[in-house]
Amino acid sequence: MQIQTKINGQTALFGIFGHPVKHSFSPILQNTLAALLGENAVYVPFPVPPEGLEAAVKGAFALGVQGLNITIPHKQAILPFLAGIDPLAERIGAVNTLCRRENGFWGYNTDVLGLKKCFSLHHRSLKGERVLLIGAGGAANAAAFLAAEEGADALWIANRTLAKAQALSQRVRQWYPLPVHPISLQDIPHLEGPLLVIQTTSVGMERDESPVLDPSFWQKVPFVVDIIYTPWQTRTLREARAQGAEGVNGFEMLIYQGIASAELWRNIQLSPHEAQALYNALALYYREGQA
Ligand code: NAP
Repeated sequence: MQIQTKINGQTALFGIFGHPVKHSFSPILQNTLAALLGENAVYVPFPVPPEGLEAAVKGAFALGVQGLNITIPHKQAILPFLAGIDPLAERIGAVNTLCRRENGFWGYNTDVLGLKKCFSLHHRSLKGERVLLIGAGGAANAAAFLAAEEGADALWIANRTLAKAQALSQRVRQWYPLPVHPISLQDIPHLEGPLLVIQTTSVGMERDESPVLDPSFWQKVPFVVDIIYTPWQTRTLREARAQGAEGVNGFEMLIYQGIASAELWRNIQLSPHEAQALYNALALYYREGQA
């Protein structure tokens, strides 16, 4: 019989709360990262239903859990159970990362850091740019506040449900002076370029569709991030690239938000080489699984 010593009395515990949580890629990402760091740590999924959230937060703290990710549907609902919150996460109104402190868990939003990293890896900055955000759901919140925080010149928020685009625009305006314009998806082709685009709707995941109805629009766009990563290339990315735009999918955002969480938990910073090696290994693994 082989003695299992990998998990022992000194193993640090991390995890993710979600409902459902079984499709999450974070356990693979975080356990690979812990192995890369040579740490005695384990990261596990916790299926937490909405009615169990408060008890789960208290229980995790009592059990000595060192850090947590928070995913659907808890990113906003968890706010009342935090001991403190990072100022940008507070503006965004959603957290995806909890860090253990003496008095409880503090909340952070690393979705915004993952998206920011995605721009910097491609030598793009939102500062001074005209930005089109497509979508006004959970992920769009982080993207809208990133654009504002980074000093975008103007922001258009296009969404199927205009009222949600209006509400998000209003929230951004409360904190930042930039002009924010809520528009419908049908208005997108009429916008003037050049525009940097962040596509955050789920359109393109299930069916080969794009929220941008006129592909020639992409001639006005030098750079687009579509935060979907399944499929690897959405119709949006395919049409944008065909018109000469540089297009990036959501896998970088996914991996770099996880790296940012891990760095916050440990108060460390991975070297660019370590982060890139981790990204490459996980992208290869993920794409082989899809093939
Ligand atoms: P969400 O809160 O449910 O928002 C969904 C968004 O998609 C809303 O703007 C919604 O518009 C729009 N939408 C859905 N179906 C549509 C349709 N048929 N036509 C037009 N618009 C439609 O979801 P979320 O959490 O923001 O996630 C959105 C996408 O981002 C998902 O594909 C998710 O996998 C991906 N994501 C990626 C990362 C990453 O790290 N790469 C992180 C988070 C999320 P309405 O407001 O009109 O309903």
